[in-house]
Amino acid sequence: MMKAIVDAGTCTGCTLCCDIAPDVFAMGDDGLAHPKAEEVPAAAEASAQEAAGSCPVSAIKVD
Ligand code: SF4
Repeated sequence: MMKAIVDAGTCTGCTLCCDIAPDVFAMGDDGLAHPKAEEVPAAAEASAQEAAGSCPVSAIKVD
């Protein structure tokens, strides 16, 4: 089971992760990205890892 976490204190709200992994991340009313669910769907694990690697401020942790 993979979990994705966004550090709200680091995220700049650039929306990139939501474009790369729309099944995993969504923008919140606070203008920051949030995981859509506690558990990353198995089919979206690769995109979640790509999003984590692409975040310009390294705000995403997946494990
Ligand atoms: S890619 Fe990083 S900085 Fe951009 S919205 Fe996602 S978590 Fe925030």
